[in-house]
Amino acid sequence: MPRTTRAAKTKSFLQVANWKMNKTIREAKQFIEQFVNEKVVTKQQIWFAVPFTDISPMKQLVGDVYQIGAQNMHEASSGAYTGEIAAEMLLEAGASFVILGHSERRKYFHETDSSINKKVLRAIEAGLKPIVCIGESFEEREEERTEEVLKNQLLEGLKDVSVNSISSCIIAYEPIWAIGTGKTATSDMVVKAHEAIRSIFEGLYEKKIAEEMTILYGGSVSPASAEELSKSPGVNGFLIGTASLDPATFAKIVTLSENTTVE
Ligand code: PEP
Repeated sequence: MPRTTRAAKTKSFLQVANWKMNKTIREAKQFIEQFVNEKVVTKQQIWFAVPFTDISPMKQLVGDVYQIGAQNMHEASSGAYTGEIAAEMLLEAGASFVILGHSERRKYFHETDSSINKKVLRAIEAGLKPIVCIGESFEEREEERTEEVLKNQLLEGLKDVSVNSISSCIIAYEPIWAIGTGKTATSDMVVKAHEAIRSIFEGLYEKKIAEEMTILYGGSVSPASAEELSKSPGVNGFLIGTASLDPATFAKIVTLSENTTVE
C-alpha cells in the first residue's frame, strides 16, 4: 500500500491537449479560432502538444496565452539523425515543453525507459519542460503489478535527474488500457496511482518535492469524467488526446474542471 503523500491543489489545474498526428497548420488555426469563440473563462493553464509543423504558427497565433509543446524529440542536440528533431529546434520554434515516453512512442517506436531517460536529461538541459508519461498495461493491473511498473518506469526514466532539476518535470499517469479506448480509470484508481507516484518521489527525492510535483491523469478523459477526476485528490491536471481535438468538447472539459477545490 502506498503511503499517503498528497499534493495540495494550490497550483492552477493544467490541461494538456495531445493532438498526436492530427491537424495541419490550417486546421490548428481554425481550432484556436473556434476554441476562443467558446469564451471559456478559466484560471487553469492550457497547453497544446502539437505536430512539429504547427509549433511555430501556433506560437505566433496564441503568444503567451497558451503554451505550445512537442510530442517527442531526439536525445542529441544535433547531428546525422535523418528525420529527427532536437530540443533547440523545438525551443526556437516556440515550444516550451515536450511530451516524452508516451505509450504510443513506446509501442510503435520501441522507446524504452532508458532511451526516454536520455531524452528527459537532454530536454532539461536545453530548457524544455518534459512531461514524462508512465502507466501500466491491462495485464499488469490484473496481476496487481501497477505500483511496481510505475516505480520501475520512474527509476529508469528519471535516472540522474537531480533534485534541482526535478521540479521542471511533469509526470503524466496514463494507464495504457485507458488511452484512446473510451475506458477511463475510476477516480479511486487514479488517486491510488497518484499517491503511489508521490510515495516513489518521496523515496527518490524528498517529501516536499513529492508533494509539489505536478502529476496529470491521461486516458479517455471526456466531459463525462472530467468533473469527478479533476476533483480527485492529488490530480493536478489532465493529458487529453481524443477529446482535445474538438474545440467545444475541450472547452467543456476545461469548464467542468474549473471548480477543483484547494486542499
Ligand atoms: C493521450 O494520448 O495521452 C490520451 C490520453 O489519449 P485519449 O485521451 O484519447 O485517451
